Amino acid sequence: MSKVLFINGSVHGHINPTLPLVKELVHRGEEVFYFTTAQFKEKVIAAGAVYVDAGEKFTEFNNNYRPSGSHPFYVLIDYILQTDEVMLPLVLDKAKEISVDYIIHDSLFGAGNIVGRRLNKPDICSCTSFAMGRLPIPPHMLEPGFHPELDALYEKIGIVSSEWGITKLSIMDIFFKKSGLNIIFTSKEFQPDAGSFDDSFKFVGASIAQRHETIGFPIEELEEKAVVYISMGTINNNFAGFYKKCIEAFTETDYKIVLSIGQKTDIAELGRIPNNFIVKRYVPQLDVLKKTGIFISHGGLNSVNEALYYGVPVIAIPQANDQFMVSRQLAAVGAGLSLKMEDITPQLLKESVDKILRDASYKAASRKVGESFRAAGGYEAAADYILGYKST
Ligand code: UDP
Repeated sequence: MSKVLFINGSVHGHINPTLPLVKELVHRGEEVFYFTTAQFKEKVIAAGAVYVDAGEKFTEFNNNYRPSGSHPFYVLIDYILQTDEVMLPLVLDKAKEISVDYIIHDSLFGAGNIVGRRLNKPDICSCTSFAMGRLPIPPHMLEPGFHPELDALYEKIGIVSSEWGITKLSIMDIFFKKSGLNIIFTSKEFQPDAGSFDDSFKFVGASIAQRHETIGFPIEELEEKAVVYISMGTINNNFAGFYKKCIEAFTETDYKIVLSIGQKTDIAELGRIPNNFIVKRYVPQLDVLKKTGIFISHGGLNSVNEALYYGVPVIAIPQANDQFMVSRQLAAVGAGLSLKMEDITPQLLKESVDKILRDASYKAASRKVGESFRAAGGYEAAADYILGYKST
């Protein structure tokens, strides 16, 4: 039995696919310590891990964070870097205290590969978005002098590198924390440009298992009509205007609509909720997807993976980060459509749903990707790779 520290941030999408893996590792005799915030305590304990509280400093950082600039990519890198700066000392302390044998870390949050280097322990990367072999912006946008926010970032990276005792961190090192083994929670068939990745990248497919959540939801109401499930994820989901268009599009239709609106939207702003709608702040997504005909999503990779795993076509309306890439890929494999938020009207929503439900090719394509996920082995394959790697 070895002790492993799983280092993660505090977002559902980065944590959900890791929980079945944790359970599997525990089942195979590993002692898993899971570093995250109190919001996820119950879930990681239910998966069999020892919960390691990230502490107040990290929660305070998350609650008080305000973007330092306006350029979407530089701001993202700056955010990841700031998160790493807060997390690294906390994680290092915990790793020493526990006396870990190896580390599994999120590809984005927590500087887990630096922890591995500093403690001279094997580290493994857990990636819940597409694998990234290069930055998703053109090279000229990385030239010093191109943008003041970029220059400020380079300065900060220089300071952080010397603080961490690292010769030279690059933007890529911050964006994707590559390790000797990189577990990617999608399949080669769905990963864009899959052939360009070296053998340290293992595409294990979606990692799906029964979730230990207690959420009141009237699942029996999804039996009679075709179900359309709408969710814009758990982070940027304050879209009252969009939800109102959904209500207008599907009021009194033959569809049953499940609308997950997140924690920020004011339900009162949505007006009267029609009888064929179930509106909740958070739903048991895997249970809902099993009964869903079509999913309208922001194109988060976890949501899209989960839908395709159950053979559900997706209409993606990407908002940020990798959601654009995921939505393009979804449309490219024929498992759904990618729409722009600015084009959305109630009529377009209704027509798009009708179109996908009429044309069986969308369902067939989504089933095909779902099969590729199962064939890739999921969390069991991930555990095989990890246990093989830690003992090399
Ligand atoms: N999720 C859920 N219920 C909801 C909304 C989201 O269980 O009502 C879960 C979903 O199953 C997925 C995660 O939250 O695992 C969202 O991850 P994703 O990468 O799709 O989007 P993010 O929230 O990170 O933008």
